[in-house]
Parts: sequence; C-alpha cells; structure tokens
Amino acid sequence: MSHAEEIVAAAQRLDAAGMMPSKSGNLSVREGEGFVITPAALPYAQMTPADIVAVDADGIAVEGAPHRPSSEWRLHAAIYAARPEIGAVVHTHSPRATALSCARRGIPPFHYMVLLAGGPVRCAGHATFGTAALAKACVAALADRRAVLLANHGSVAVGATLKAALTLAFEVENLAGQYLDLRAAGLKPVLLTKKELAEAAAQFADYGR
Ligand SMILES: [Zn+2]
Repeated sequence: MSHAEEIVAAAQRLDAAGMMPSKSGNLSVREGEGFVITPAALPYAQMTPADIVAVDADGIAVEGAPHRPSSEWRLHAAIYAARPEIGAVVHTHSPRATALSCARRGIPPFHYMVLLAGGPVRCAGHATFGTAALAKACVAALADRRAVLLANHGSVAVGATLKAALTLAFEVENLAGQYLDLRAAGLKPVLLTKKELAEAAAQFADYGR
C-alpha cells in the first residue's frame, strides 16, 4: 500500500468511528524530505489516494498538487522536524479526548495503557488552530511522549508508522472517555504510582518480546 492509500484508509476508519466530526482532523506520513498529508476541507468519505497532498519539509505543496494541504500542516511539519523517530501523525477532534482538552487537562496515569503514549498524556497550552504557535505548543507538550491533547481543540497521536499512530489515537480517545466517566460518576481515580507504572512498562517490554 502506498502512503496515500494508507492515509485514506486510516482517515475513513477514523471518520466512520465518529473520531472526525465536521471534516475535522488530519493525518500525515513522512515521505522523503517532507511528508504526505490529507487535503484541506474534503469529506473523508469521498477522499481517494489521488487527493493526498505531498509537501516539502516547510509544508510547501509540490507543483501540480490536487488540493491545498490541511490547514494544520504546520503542526505536522513541526513534529517531523523535532522528532526524527516519528513517521506518522494523526490529529483528531475525537469527542471524549476533545471534551477533556476543553478543561485543559491531560490524561493522568489511572490506567497502565497510558504507557502506549509513553506515559501520562499532557495537555498543550492553548493557541489558535493552524498557527505556528499551536505547532510549537504541541511539540513542547509532546516531549518524550507519543500523544498530546491540544487545549480546547483535540488530540494528536504520533508513531513510527501510521498503524501505530492510528492505534494510539483510538486508545487516547478510550482513556479520555474512561477518565471522564470516572469523574462523571463522582469517583476520584486512584493514580498508579511511579513504581506500578515501571512494573507495567517492564511487563509490556516482556509481552512485546
Ligand atoms: Zn484540529
């Protein structure tokens, strides 16, 4: 599968799962010196691999591009520049993670699955969508992690591959939902200690072997 085919398949899966309300969200995969990214304002259901836009490291679309790149291309470009190990970025406005982001709260370590993100998920400071300021805030809050919430906006999941970033985007939504459910039930989550998290991380490493 080409990167463009992978992106369309992943975007349509996210959309069908209700993770991309009102055509929101954007996905990209690193390619050469730049990356390939979903176009601006095109419904996912009608998107084809020919609609995916190739851009250079500065987000400039290659000549003859079918559309403008997603308005959030700066965020993708900034992540690739800062994190050489990252090969794919998934940004969503998935409902539960976005709800939590509107309280400007991250996901604390109440469940060991936060380890999929590299640890507790932070919430980046607020900045207007599509701006370099948002890209900067996102990269800062993403330090040593593979997921981050964007204040009053949504979530970002990254990975070495699009498959990994997609899996993490769904897990971030799941964890945010569980955390909100706990809070809505009036329960105070008991957070895992550093030691408990370290033990779970060791078990993960063992399990992955
Ligand atoms: Zn967004």
